[in-house]
Amino acid sequence: MDNNQIELLGDNHVSTSVETPLRPDAFEKSDSEKIKNIQGHFSNIMEELGLDLTDDSLSGTPYRVAKMFVKELFYGLNPENKPKLSTFENKYGYKKMLVEQNITIDSSCEHHFLPITGIAHVGYIPKDRVIGLSKINRLVAYYSHRPQVQERLCLQILTDLQETLGTKDVIIVISAKHLCVSSRGIKDKNSLTTTIEYGGSFDDIAVRNEFYKQINNFQPNNLNV
Ligand SMILES: [Zn+2]
Repeated sequence: MDNNQIELLGDNHVSTSVETPLRPDAFEKSDSEKIKNIQGHFSNIMEELGLDLTDDSLSGTPYRVAKMFVKELFYGLNPENKPKLSTFENKYGYKKMLVEQNITIDSSCEHHFLPITGIAHVGYIPKDRVIGLSKINRLVAYYSHRPQVQERLCLQILTDLQETLGTKDVIIVISAKHLCVSSRGIKDKNSLTTTIEYGGSFDDIAVRNEFYKQINNFQPNNLNV
């Protein structure tokens, strides 16, 4: 790929697959080894930019950035960090829609390594199994904490929940701001990107409308992102 193609792909936020593209040896090194190596690489970037790393304010930055990448922003790359998604028998026989809304999205664009912030709304219609409510939030957080493309994030959460819950009747809406759109490139400060993915009963527009009605009832006035 030449530099023009690289720019084009980034500005159009094209994703290549539903799975996050990972190397086969992605987790052969320990987190501490990765932090040590990234610290060195980031020092080089800062030096290349002309920054004086002997300055007290800057000297710790490479370590802070490396630790933030491995332990915070991108912890969701490692399957070992996936939350345990225990489900329970649907003993009370609740068979109507359940909506978990205004779930925080804190992610990063894989094309520019800049933040994607917003909210997600998830709905499902239980069959035999139900899931603890906070587990949905944890699953959203897990998939968000990777270099991401919003469409893929939406699909990864949807397919995982469908598998975990044993039903296709799941819907997810994500509305988010991309810093790579607001602070560089087109520099649009107000635009939001919304992605919607669903399956099963949600293919029916009446069922989707019931979900949209719920999320509109409790929509925050603004996203505060
Ligand atoms: Zn981007």
